[in-house]
Amino acid sequence: MSVTAYIGLGSNLAAPLNQLAGAIAALAALPQTTLMAQSPFYRSRPVGPQDQPDFVNGAAMLTTDLSPLALLDHLQRIERAHGRQRTEHWGPRTLDLDLLLYGQQVVQNDRLTVPHAELPQRDFVLQPLLDLTPELQLPDGRTVASLRSRCPDNGLQRLKPVAKDPPL
Ligand code: ADP
Ligand code: MG
Repeated sequence: MSVTAYIGLGSNLAAPLNQLAGAIAALAALPQTTLMAQSPFYRSRPVGPQDQPDFVNGAAMLTTDLSPLALLDHLQRIERAHGRQRTEHWGPRTLDLDLLLYGQQVVQNDRLTVPHAELPQRDFVLQPLLDLTPELQLPDGRTVASLRSRCPDNGLQRLKPVAKDPPL
């Protein structure tokens, strides 16, 4: 049985929009997985150290037959392929891919916490999720919409969609 999963994407180095576009293409190419939709992208201020560029963030909705850990393995492979170096916590990165939600499952082990631990307090995660699925709920019954309305506003700016087709 396929599960609907949501992936959070973020980048603040090396042409962030290109990083996110490349990540979306890599997600679309995953085995046993279908890319269903991608959210608009947003510019957001960094969490943690402020002496780094703004981030571009978005989210993708997948259906997948991969297990949560198999999906995480793929996300980390895609991060590495985009030159991700693990340096300081919350520091700059070419690409960050987080497993935000995996159906209504709760996962808690050494490698994985799902729903993603920071999801409820990050506008740059909640807003793209809301764009993708306005009625989305967490396994504990809280709605993404209610979390978004209570989330501190960190000056999220929606970026203009990149045109997929030339204008007529
Ligand atoms: P962050 O995304 O919090 O800035 P990293 O991307 O460096 O941090 O991830 C650090 C570790 O977080 C990874 O090694 C991974 O095993 C773990 N992790 C736990 N839960 C998740 C999740 N839901 N999605 C992605 N990584 C996760
Ligand atoms: Mg991460």
